[in-house]
Amino acid sequence: MRTWIVAGNWKMHNTIGESITLAQAIKEGTTNIKNGEVVIAPPFTSLYSAYETIKDSQVTLAAQNMHYEDKGAFTGEIAPGMLKDIGCTYVIIGHSERRKYFHERDEDINLKVKKALAVGLKPILCVGETEDERIKDVTQSVIDRQIKKALSGVDKIDKVVIAYEPVWAIGTGKVATSIQAEEVHRFIRGILKELYGDVSKDIRILYGGSVTKDNIGELIGMENIDGALVGGASLKPDAFLGIIQQISGKK
Ligand code: PEP
Repeated sequence: MRTWIVAGNWKMHNTIGESITLAQAIKEGTTNIKNGEVVIAPPFTSLYSAYETIKDSQVTLAAQNMHYEDKGAFTGEIAPGMLKDIGCTYVIIGHSERRKYFHERDEDINLKVKKALAVGLKPILCVGETEDERIKDVTQSVIDRQIKKALSGVDKIDKVVIAYEPVWAIGTGKVATSIQAEEVHRFIRGILKELYGDVSKDIRILYGGSVTKDNIGELIGMENIDGALVGGASLKPDAFLGIIQQISGKK
């Protein structure tokens, strides 16, 4: 039995004060949720204050990235143990913006997934094709490569959440149709079945890419869509809570 998740990726937005206000509003708006999880991913500088705000609530904390080494001379980086220490439960790994602007490769993502699990963080592993790859009809081979490389040598698969985020849909307002999204989610579940057998039925696969409270209803009705990774719409309490309400009502 899979439980739903809605995760808000705040990206490089919000001061500490703004983060506390937003986290507080999400906490207050989610006191009655059942059978699911709400996760927020503030920027590093707000993690601790967000944690202090939500710690006795239904909301859990994620980081947006981490290094794969435990410690060392990696100026500007954050170690997995530091995220655990500050109260994170989840960590987003392999977001397309990390792949595009910071040149993260499948190999780096694999090291990060393995290290996150080793320290007790649950990875939200992002995969997705670019617009060009969809036009060239190589979506499935791209997703197959990203998942198999990221999960190479990974055995605690029950702790991993996958986020399918078509790159062309992120921050563009161009949401995938429920049929397009479900097709890829079903394909991902097939890969997980090939790799892990029946456990694949229990792995959560989130959709991400221009999700709003107006388009989530149809997406969440699909069999293999278990929740959402939300960027822009996670920065406004009404928009984010509207998405959570619809998902919790339908799953
Ligand atoms: C994201 O960055 O993970 C994302 C899905 O962004 P948006 O919802 O803004 O498209």
